[in-house]
Amino acid sequence: MSKLSSKEIERYSKQLSLPEIGELGQQKLKNSSVLIVGAGGLASPVSYYLAAAGVGKLGIIDADKVELSNLQRQILHRTADLDRLKVESARDSLEALNSNLEISTYQDFLDFELAKKLFREYDLVVDCVDNFATRYLVNDAAVETNTPLIEAGVAAFEGQLMLIDPPQGPCYRCIFPEQSTTDSPERGLLGVIPGTIGTLQATEAIKYLLGLGRLLLGRLLVYDGLELSFREVEIKRNSSCSVCGDK
Ligand SMILES: [Zn+2]
Repeated sequence: MSKLSSKEIERYSKQLSLPEIGELGQQKLKNSSVLIVGAGGLASPVSYYLAAAGVGKLGIIDADKVELSNLQRQILHRTADLDRLKVESARDSLEALNSNLEISTYQDFLDFELAKKLFREYDLVVDCVDNFATRYLVNDAAVETNTPLIEAGVAAFEGQLMLIDPPQGPCYRCIFPEQSTTDSPERGLLGVIPGTIGTLQATEAIKYLLGLGRLLLGRLLVYDGLELSFREVEIKRNSSCSVCGDK
């Protein structure tokens, strides 16, 4: 693994002084790669914190442009970025924060084949999408390629997250087997909610990459912003799951 430069040692000094991370852990982060699916509300804290922490290679896939109604929560983007591609605006923000990283952007809609191809190129995937169709697609591609995935969703004042680590533990479909056919019309969302949940996704990503702590495997963490409370739901792999079940 490549040594850290003196600038990197200064930049990451707060992490280097943690015995759980140290210089070896920081080098591990530098040699790690994370693909972030989406460049919106969840992806903003996820990508900022992973870039700040020194994860060496980040990929971001999103096909959309920045709209005025995004700025209430998607803090990667600024008013001056309106109508720009989100992946380009995201790249500028992340490079301004930390220019030591390799950032790959994909201005594409994710389909199953592309998902499988990209997932094989990264150590870990963080799901930051805002629709169920893509969420199921990302889950299914992660299971098929044995790629660890940090899954999350937010709505109104609430959010939830879980780690999917195939072939062990449950996948998203083990808990929610089928996409609801009566997808409710888009609900509102308090802008800070994806900030909280995305920050937790970034925490879990760093833990996973470094093999630290107790991972969120087999546990769904549910956050209620109005109560300001967290609860945990135990989840098990469903042996008859259509994606990860026993064939
Ligand atoms: Zn499953």
